[in-house]
Amino acid sequence: MSGENQSQAPPYKLAGLDGRSRPSVFDLGRGVSLGGREFIVMAGPCSVEADPQMLGTAREVKAAGAHLLRGGAFKPRSSPYSFQGLAEEGLKMLARARDLTGLAVVTEVMDSAEVDLVEAYADVLQVGSRNSQNFSLLKRLGQTRKPVLLKRGLMNTVEEFLGSAEYILAGGNEKVILCERGIRTFEPSTRNTLDLSAVLAVKERSHLPVIVDPSHASGRASFVPPLAKAALAVGADGLMIEVHCRPEAALCDGDESLDPAEFKSLMAELAALAPRFGRSLAGPGAPGGRGGEPVAGKTEELNDLRARIDELDDEILELVQKRADAALEIGRVKKSRALAVVDPAREKAVLDRLALKSRGRALKGRAIREIYSAIVRACRAAQAGSEEEGRT
Ligand code: PEP
Ligand code: MN
Repeated sequence: MSGENQSQAPPYKLAGLDGRSRPSVFDLGRGVSLGGREFIVMAGPCSVEADPQMLGTAREVKAAGAHLLRGGAFKPRSSPYSFQGLAEEGLKMLARARDLTGLAVVTEVMDSAEVDLVEAYADVLQVGSRNSQNFSLLKRLGQTRKPVLLKRGLMNTVEEFLGSAEYILAGGNEKVILCERGIRTFEPSTRNTLDLSAVLAVKERSHLPVIVDPSHASGRASFVPPLAKAALAVGADGLMIEVHCRPEAALCDGDESLDPAEFKSLMAELAALAPRFGRSLAGPGAPGGRGGEPVAGKTEELNDLRARIDELDDEILELVQKRADAALEIGRVKKSRALAVVDPAREKAVLDRLALKSRGRALKGRAIREIYSAIVRACRAAQAGSEEEGRT
């Protein structure tokens, strides 16, 4: 509420400078340090959707030089009928992506009751814009020892933003990252209005690191690279950027998501610009990537995943062979009734049905048609082969 700050005691004595001359620098996990010279980039999809989407995007952002992987498993959607996230299943996918890439993971927690669960998987806990003044959640996060990425509320002043940070700090958690992600104004041409001045206003009053999220700020992928560069220039300590391996197929916020090539080229530009603003950023293809390599124990996890793939391949092979047996049987029945063995209309119906069934899954549309066209072709060849065998 306004007016509270009229008292003598500053409303954010821990978040405020309070005699501190140096900005806070702290570790986000996996050797990534925020608040120092290195400009930190967190990237990944809006939502965790499936293992291939998450692993594919994670590999791409890692190769482009990102320091952390983002992805929401609990999604704060305006409508209860929109995709709400995969909850714990999504957290597990994030953990697998971390194990495969070595990137630390940042993900949103929406409810005090879910802090224990999210904390078990995440390296950094995110508080979304809509929860920026959920004071019971903030108090609960004061009790964790994991860094908290606090997004600015849609309608919060800088003072209120620092007040929210204070709740976490007052609980004893010193690792708070502030994130400017755009505020709601009268302007409809962008999803929100990116308030870059807030970075300066926060830095004038607080020692806490500040990052900028140009994706939610603008809602438009083409606006993200220029706004990201502006954030570097204005003195932000890093960025959070939405990247999806196929933005057009994203279940959430595809319009504001960069594809891997766009992200890679933005990272190259940022790397070139960073030294001019007193920052460093190694950029795409930096030797060994960043965020740490997968630790030795994690190769076990990789071996488990590969064993799972082998098992699934065995099952798929068995099913494909059974399908071929059934196709041969159909071929024999048709021949005995003097019917044409190849029926293009039926083949088309098979592909259409499967493509439709695959909507919203990891493999959909064209991919499913390609796979099944190959299977149908192989079965047809087997039918033709058995006909020839029959003749000899
Ligand atoms: C997000 O980062 O996934 C998100 C929902 O952002 P915001 O809370 O800023 O809207
Ligand atoms: Mn989003």
